[in-house]
Amino acid sequence: MNKAELLAESSTHVLRSVREVFPMPTVIRLHRYVHLPYRGVMMTRQNIFKRDGNRCQYCGTSDDLTLDHVLPKSRGGKTNWDNLATACKRCNSRKGDYTPEEANMPLRQRPFKPSFLMFLRDFSGVVDDGWLPYLGAKEAIY
Ligand SMILES: [Zn+2]
Repeated sequence: MNKAELLAESSTHVLRSVREVFPMPTVIRLHRYVHLPYRGVMMTRQNIFKRDGNRCQYCGTSDDLTLDHVLPKSRGGKTNWDNLATACKRCNSRKGDYTPEEANMPLRQRPFKPSFLMFLRDFSGVVDDGWLPYLGAKEAIY
């Protein structure tokens, strides 16, 4: 319908209709600008687990995971990327209303907000090399 043009296509996949075969686009340019407000990577339980490699940030287990407020909520800790860490239920209850320092439970990694590029690379596992010029990456990120 002439709403978009194909800029790059897959070398391995095609789209098929009953009678025709079309190239599978990997990059398209829309003819009309569509404003999508960018809110960054969605903060969800699953995305925090992914950021933390699905491991408790205190003991490293991958069993029975929940979210821990690093600075406890009861002490003003916020519910955000920088204050939430994956923890197993055991560590979470052991830590209780203490900070990691007070509980003598060091974090394996300080919580952080992932960038969108990092999210694509590490979380979805799919970054088409053809996208790199459009994602602001100067070089291949693998
Ligand atoms: Zn643990």
